[in-house]
Amino acid sequence: MNSIAMTNSPRVIFASGALSQVANEIAELNRKRILLISDESASTHATRLQTELGALVIHWINHVVVHVPDDFSSPIADLVRREEIDLVLTIGGGSATGLGKIIALDCSIDLLAIPTTYAGSEMTSIWGRTNSNEKTTGRNPVVLPKTTIYDPELTLSLPYLVSVNSGMNAIAHAVEALYAPELNSEIRNAALDGITIFASGLRGIRENINNLSARTDLLRGSMLCGFALNNSTMGIHHKICHTLGGMFDLPHAPMHSSVLPWAVQYNQDFAKTQLKEVAEVLSARSAAEGLWDLANEVGAQTSLQELGYPLDKSEEVASVISSAKYVNPRPFNHDGILELLSNAYKGSRPDDES
Ligand code: NAD
Repeated sequence: MNSIAMTNSPRVIFASGALSQVANEIAELNRKRILLISDESASTHATRLQTELGALVIHWINHVVVHVPDDFSSPIADLVRREEIDLVLTIGGGSATGLGKIIALDCSIDLLAIPTTYAGSEMTSIWGRTNSNEKTTGRNPVVLPKTTIYDPELTLSLPYLVSVNSGMNAIAHAVEALYAPELNSEIRNAALDGITIFASGLRGIRENINNLSARTDLLRGSMLCGFALNNSTMGIHHKICHTLGGMFDLPHAPMHSSVLPWAVQYNQDFAKTQLKEVAEVLSARSAAEGLWDLANEVGAQTSLQELGYPLDKSEEVASVISSAKYVNPRPFNHDGILELLSNAYKGSRPDDES
């Protein structure tokens, strides 16, 4: 493990009711001309922000498009340059944050993000955009928000299944951070704490979706897992999810609960110490079993078959992945990947017999 921590994070404000602190924070940043971006689910909160910020809000976009197509973001970037806007303020899920990041990137202005889901993008300097249906991603410090404001009350309206799927997505970031080459003690603590409180938060909202304490755990978990993601290189699990998403247009978030237990099983003998720690925080015999049990218990999809993955294309998928450059404890191996895909397709439990 590295002995010197080199970690990046936005300034974070985390509190129930923190939405009321946005005006103060913008005054601190000394920003005077704001583009406000919200997704449809956050329009009531955005209306409140517009009222509180008054003439500082030069323009409000109340609609976002997933994966940020260039033909959607370009006219907005033109407007930002024309109006000499100096801050982009986003409120909404990862798609709203994602649009804010592209505006920050293309116009070289600061971003203040207020997330309302558990995606974790608001903690990272990773951007993503699409052009002619082709998605590209990259890292740039300009897209790391100057400030991220977390207010758990904003997440009470998030539907159960969206919460579960984005929660399992966040857990996958933390698990892969634990066996990434950049691991240091901050990342390790954030990842293990993130997994622990995500697991308890997901169980909490299964009992009562309006449980603010469980919602607070989940949002705190997404902050920690986002921090872990920002400071790590992802491994085989993310390579598989992105490859399947690109080749077959499978939905990104629900794939995590099917693939993660088997991706972890694939790496088991090559990251024994880290995966033992994951098993411990999940009170399970192995990380793979613990993740599969958690996903089942909270009602996440655990088979690629349910998502429409064409199993007969596995040879092709395994060839693409095994010939790719990798950062993963166990080298990419064609037969091993075939086996992983077959198990994730069935959604079977990775117990000792498998
Ligand atoms: P999303 O932003 O697309 O939101 C999903 C749906 O939930 C939308 O209909 C939205 O309006 C609604 N919603 C959001 N908050 C709500 C709330 N509190 N109550 C009710 N409804 C609400 O989905 P997401 O999972 O948040 O984000 C996915 C995107 O984020 C993807 O494009 C993914 O690639 C990106 N992402 C990026 C990073 C990064 O570091 N760059 C990390 C994770 C995810």
